[in-house]
Amino acid sequence: MAPRIIPRKEHNISRKQINPYALRTLYRLRDEGFIAYLVGGCVRDLLLKRTPKDFDIATNATPGQIKRLFRNCRLIGRRFRLAHLHFKEEILEVSTFRADGPAEDSEEEGRPGTGEGKGAVAGHPRHLKDDNGVVLRDNVFGTPEEDALRRDFTINALAYNIADFTVIDYSTGLRDLRDRIIRPIGDPAVRFTEDPVRMLRAVRFAASHDFALEPAAWEVIRRLAPTISRSSPARLYEEVQKLFLLGSAGRVLGLLEESGLLAALLPGVDRRLADDEVYRRRLRANLDYLDQRRQSEMPPTPSFLLAALFGPSLEEAALAGHREGIPFQQALDSACGAALMELGNTVTVPARIGDHLRRILAMQQVLRRRPPRRPTALSGRQEFAEALEYLRMTTAVQGEGQAAREWWDAFLAGVPPEKITGTADADTPAPEADARKKRSRRRRPRRRKAAVPAAASADATG
Ligand code: ATP
Ligand code: MG
Repeated sequence: MAPRIIPRKEHNISRKQINPYALRTLYRLRDEGFIAYLVGGCVRDLLLKRTPKDFDIATNATPGQIKRLFRNCRLIGRRFRLAHLHFKEEILEVSTFRADGPAEDSEEEGRPGTGEGKGAVAGHPRHLKDDNGVVLRDNVFGTPEEDALRRDFTINALAYNIADFTVIDYSTGLRDLRDRIIRPIGDPAVRFTEDPVRMLRAVRFAASHDFALEPAAWEVIRRLAPTISRSSPARLYEEVQKLFLLGSAGRVLGLLEESGLLAALLPGVDRRLADDEVYRRRLRANLDYLDQRRQSEMPPTPSFLLAALFGPSLEEAALAGHREGIPFQQALDSACGAALMELGNTVTVPARIGDHLRRILAMQQVLRRRPPRRPTALSGRQEFAEALEYLRMTTAVQGEGQAAREWWDAFLAGVPPEKITGTADADTPAPEADARKKRSRRRRPRRRKAAVPAAASADATG
């Protein structure tokens, strides 16, 4: 199919909307005689009048040529070499046009490229192995068209050509943008099998852009959903962040659940949703809270996301254990351990993040004790800000813990602890509080900053 070329006066992308570093890079490549396009999500978003997350550039310059042109360039990737241009506040990605090869980002799991014999840039070996046969480089260079058609969805395959400011559509991207459809390029079964993460990307774009999934692709996703677990757990962890932290977590959850992807990706969450309406409402409300907080001065972190997703069931499990006589914190620890273990089959949560999740939840009881013990030390802990945010979420979602939240707001506003009123706790009692020996309260210097790192664990919560 001949590409459709849309002249400057028939589309809305103006150079003013393009990131100045990206624009400068495009000009430089062009002036050196190379083809230089903006590609991928930024072209899609500019056409939709949305602010792009990042500006990716594709060119026929090889990684080596890019490196020689830009002093701020670092080449990354062992298999497929990409150029990163480092600017003050950001990094731009410049890639050489490539043909269908290993799945995107699949350094560790990619299969060797299939474009043998075509699209190579003269003089540049595509496959390079060391003496042990380890693949050092796997550059399957391609034409601009091949580069577009290896991409996941038609709306992600549009290019903006700096040479004449036209938009180039090698598939049906413009039509699908107009009709608001996520349509895989090529046979959906083939494309989702090649790289199951594309199923999650489909859900993410449908949710974030409020687009419909093309019906045949949706059917394939429902059928292939269980295969998501073939993708690398580290990559799935990254995808989970993108799914839930980009402002449309509520819609994402709905689509994941309907498609069967949730059962494969986060089986624990899926099970609880299936058998508990109260949990469903709480989770939905947590996700709405995440979406609202996205634009705030403290956007949700990965560990906070895990707390929002898993907190409700972990707290329940801990309370159940406590009712059977296990100390609350111990029950919470073992519930967290079990949940992370199960999750680890599909999604690798870095140990540090998992530990942070546990601490956010463990701090809830301590925060709710009024007056809290050693509030200054507590507020100096690393997990304090997120733990307090979790308390805020619980308050907003369940109307619980209000008094404790107010106590902390007053404290952080600089009111001396002895002046903060309302010391009797009207909220749910802290299960651990009664089991604990009273300790004398030592005097502490007054300090109100929340961001001091954890020098304060003398205040142990057990
Ligand atoms: P976002 O706004 O989330 O950044 P994006 O479309 O730019 O969306 P990226 O992950 O930044 O997504 O990827 C850039 C481009 O690379 C995509 O638009 C798409 O063309 C291509 N791409 C990314 N991942 C894949 C994949 N798994 N399979 C095929 N093409 C992909
Ligand atoms: Mg992008």
